[in-house]
Amino acid sequence: MLDFSYHMPVKIMWGQQIIAKEGANLKRFGRKAAIVTGKTSAAKSGALADIVAVCGKNGQSFQVFNSVKNDPPTGNVIDIALEINQFKPDFLIAIGGGSVLDAAKVIAILLTNGISLDTIWQSPKNKPLPLVVVPTTAGTGSEVTPYAVLTDSVSETKKSVATELIYPKLAFLDSSYTDSMPIDVTVNTAIDALSHLLEGFFAKRANNMSDIYAIEGMKLLAKAMPSLSKGEFTANCREYLLAGSLFGGLTIAKTGTTLVHALGYSLTYFHELAHGKANGLLLGAYLDYINKSLPQKVMLAVNTLGFAELSGLQTFLSELYTVKLDLTTREIALYVEKALRTSNIENTPGKMSGYVLADILERSVN
Ligand code: NAP
Ligand code: ZN
Repeated sequence: MLDFSYHMPVKIMWGQQIIAKEGANLKRFGRKAAIVTGKTSAAKSGALADIVAVCGKNGQSFQVFNSVKNDPPTGNVIDIALEINQFKPDFLIAIGGGSVLDAAKVIAILLTNGISLDTIWQSPKNKPLPLVVVPTTAGTGSEVTPYAVLTDSVSETKKSVATELIYPKLAFLDSSYTDSMPIDVTVNTAIDALSHLLEGFFAKRANNMSDIYAIEGMKLLAKAMPSLSKGEFTANCREYLLAGSLFGGLTIAKTGTTLVHALGYSLTYFHELAHGKANGLLLGAYLDYINKSLPQKVMLAVNTLGFAELSGLQTFLSELYTVKLDLTTREIALYVEKALRTSNIENTPGKMSGYVLADILERSVN
């Protein structure tokens, strides 16, 4: 019997020059926009100029706040919220990678619920400010997820804010904004999307509906896999990657992520590995474990991604990343302990234990 619920409140507008074509959709959010970005990517990608032009055309005023850091720390998000609060915007527009989108999701909550560290981790009582997002990376799918991931120095890890209230209202997706990504950011973000599709497909919370997104996303990524190895990206390939990322987001919005993300957070927090790279290092060993409990589903994913055997996908990943961290026994124990505290582990199929997690870490990065 089928048994699931489905809710996706984000209006997705997709296509080349989509902001110029559909910019009038911004009018319904109010007269004053706070544009939230990182240091350079919003400008480099061309998205900032397009948003500014449309705001002008719509008669909307705006101010740019460009200090979101990668893997945004809670303090960074609070500082930007305090600054934006002086401007009293009607709505927010986030232009950037997952870091910027996630920071803006939390800022939207802080502006209507009080700006403090405690507010970040509590369920919001008031509706956040409306949020419009323009992704400039192709990986996180944050434009369609109810999550925002922040770096928390108190618990020394990355933690998610998860509430349906932080779904953006509108997402403009134009793959030309991802053209300016350097090769390493392109590869790392693509592998994050791959990780969402695989983890979401195998998650205990997966259902018939999320599986459709996962399989479709894998078909799209399959077309871009050879480019990831070569480091050469055509406009078509950029579009496949952005669509694969979107489908990954649609998948994990329902399923959540699993073990790979839970362990990957420590590799980012303690070793400064980019989020997608941390996941990519762990995927090969993780798949060996999943293959024990879901061999048919693993084979379907492997084939959909364009490989004949699981070992083909594992070789592809190991050739992409050759990082060795030589973690000590103590480090492994700490990262395993942190991962075991997350709900991601319960969501991972098979018999998960500290021993299994330690083995996956050891095989992946030592
Ligand atoms: P990112 O941290 O947003 O960006 C990485 C780097 O790429 C930044 O230096 C950024 O520059 C640059 N960049 C972005 N777009 C560019 C472009 N078009 N051209 C040139 N440079 C560009 O990377 P991300 O992988 O997209 O996001 C990772 C974050 O998202 C992590 O914190 C992760 O935990 C989170 N995440 C969230 C979800 C979710 O559902 N909410 C899912 C997965 C991951 P600037 O500094 O100038 O912006
Ligand atoms: Zn991710």
